[in-house]
Amino acid sequence: MSEKAEDLKRRVEAFMNEYVYAAEAEYHDHIENSGNRWSIPPIMEELKKKAKEQGLWNLFLAEFDEYGSGLTNLEYAPLAEIMGRSLIGAEPFNCSAPDTGNMEVLARYGTEEQKQKWLIPLLNGEIRSAFAMTEPAVASSDATNIQCSIKREGDEYVINGRKWWISGAPDPRCKIFILMGKTNPDAPRHQQQSQILVPRDTPGVTIIRPMKVFGSDDAPHGHAEIEFKNVRVPVSNLIGEEGGGFAIAQGRLGPGRIHHCMRLIGCAQRHWS
Ligand SMILES: Cc1cc2nc3c(=O)[nH]c(=O)nc-3n(C[C@H](O)[C@H](O)[C@H](O)COP(=O)(O)OP(=O)(O)OC[C@H]3O[C@@H](n4cnc5c(N)ncnc54)[C@H](O)[C@@H]3O)c2cc1C
Repeated sequence: MSEKAEDLKRRVEAFMNEYVYAAEAEYHDHIENSGNRWSIPPIMEELKKKAKEQGLWNLFLAEFDEYGSGLTNLEYAPLAEIMGRSLIGAEPFNCSAPDTGNMEVLARYGTEEQKQKWLIPLLNGEIRSAFAMTEPAVASSDATNIQCSIKREGDEYVINGRKWWISGAPDPRCKIFILMGKTNPDAPRHQQQSQILVPRDTPGVTIIRPMKVFGSDDAPHGHAEIEFKNVRVPVSNLIGEEGGGFAIAQGRLGPGRIHHCMRLIGCAQRHWS
């Protein structure tokens, strides 16, 4: 661990001890008793403001000094472990999935216009986002199976498909989806897919229901089933090249797997030690 990473580790741990654990009761009380499970507990925005003021912000953005901490994945991993000790521990530092992976994708593959419109507000913690890949009709653990179609018509792409388990989509602050679908079902197996930006308020996007994991709806973040019916977006919303979607998904999920695992280790330490 570098000195910088050791220092951040100490400061993230201190922030968790001073503010985050103490905020859990108020956060959960809001969800259970405010009358709207899908509204954001004000305490979360207060925590974000405090963490940002302390420079504990966007720590996950490995290799991107210009946007984040510039830590390597190895250096960030122990920070994710500490954040994982609370179910509300990652968001104060703007380090929650799926925004982290989405920001990495935009930082790495986005055009300047896409970065200005979506990456900057995400980096600032002003909006949230979702990643729409998994589908009910196919075994999605092999992402080459997905069927959602993305067809070019003039200056637009037309999207048709159904997705589920889309984390963060029910969050009222979620404004943008990165969707994976097929632009060319006849191309070689790993070049059929593309990724495209779909603003949540685009006509034809319908959030059907929040889904439950072991009985919990995980409000106010949630995991949604979503229909995309003749959804039209400009061609400039494509991320990278047509056919590059599978490779982008792998680049995105790689660090994400480590983040999730480290948070779960932190969670286990807190609850089962
Ligand atoms: C809480 C939660 C949040 C999620 N968030 C998101 C999200 O934000 N965005 C998103 O796109 N997805 C999300 N997912 C979906 C997740 O990525 C998928 O559930 C996962 O990839 C598995 O795909 P599947 O559900 O289609 O299962 P399947 O692929 O149908 O797999 C079911 C079982 O069958 C096995 N299996 C599959 N194919 C084969 C085969 N050929 N041979 C033998 N065994 C096989 C698998 O190993 C597994 O045990 C989320 C899921 C959960 C539970």
